[in-house]
Amino acid sequence: MSASRRSMAIHAGIAVAAILGVTACAGPRAVATGNVATGKPVIAFTFDDIPVHGPLPPGMSRVNVMQSITDTLAAARVPASGFFNGGVGADDPGSPRTTMVWTRAGLPLGNHGFRHLGLQEAGATAFAADVIRNETSLIAARPKGDYHWFRYPFLAEGGDPASRDTIRGMLHARGYRIAAVTMAFGDYLWNPVYAACAGKGDAAAIARLEDSFLADARRAAIASRAGAMAQAGRDIPYVLLMHAGAFDARMLPRLIALYRSMGFGFVTLAQAQSDPFYAAAMDLTKPGPTPTLATPALAGPDPKACS
Ligand SMILES: [Zn+2]
Repeated sequence: MSASRRSMAIHAGIAVAAILGVTACAGPRAVATGNVATGKPVIAFTFDDIPVHGPLPPGMSRVNVMQSITDTLAAARVPASGFFNGGVGADDPGSPRTTMVWTRAGLPLGNHGFRHLGLQEAGATAFAADVIRNETSLIAARPKGDYHWFRYPFLAEGGDPASRDTIRGMLHARGYRIAAVTMAFGDYLWNPVYAACAGKGDAAAIARLEDSFLADARRAAIASRAGAMAQAGRDIPYVLLMHAGAFDARMLPRLIALYRSMGFGFVTLAQAQSDPFYAAAMDLTKPGPTPTLATPALAGPDPKACS
């Protein structure tokens, strides 16, 4: 409780400072944060739930989804990191090919747990075993670079400090860094609605989904910048949470164009998390939880658009 009050007081103080010194935050300070040489705000894309995320629209395979995502990233020259569940979709012969599309595009792959367990529900012992089990599948997938990046399923780090510290200790001992999330807009919510609308061939409903997706992405980006200003007094490099879903694939070219129009550039996850804001995600001997920013209120898709 006291931490929350302290955070609110800091938040209020920085908000006042931001109002008084708006021009001071725009130029030299942005450069000093290490947002590459350009000084513009930057985003690191991350895609969770490789190889299986969400329902598919008719006529689309998971390999198609992954091919579309990696083609878009390559054409736009946007780096990205993926997060892998070796035990999800293991009974689908298409899963290894889906993962291979990602790795053959030269994109790195980190650990997201073998079965995508929630830490709270599974308990620390089973959760740790599941993370370790996923390493065998990760090594077999032969991703580019070091796979020792971990993204918590459901972003859940444990309901009590003891289990959180147990898992941080295990991850540290195995050489992991934690992939933080400092920009998110609930992208995954659109995938099932899109699949339903595509099944009905409802083009008007899909157009509305496209609009609402981009509107929430914009809101979340603005909110992350405001949150960073309040919490750190400056822009930080943002780590964006996405998922390997069909609607994510469909919208990715427009999403990248939106961020570019808002002035963002793009960096790797490692580049983003070299910022001191992420120190507790990079060095797991430091106390948790993983640094983050508050999630803004967003509209989401109309869940009944095509039900
Ligand atoms: Zn996930």
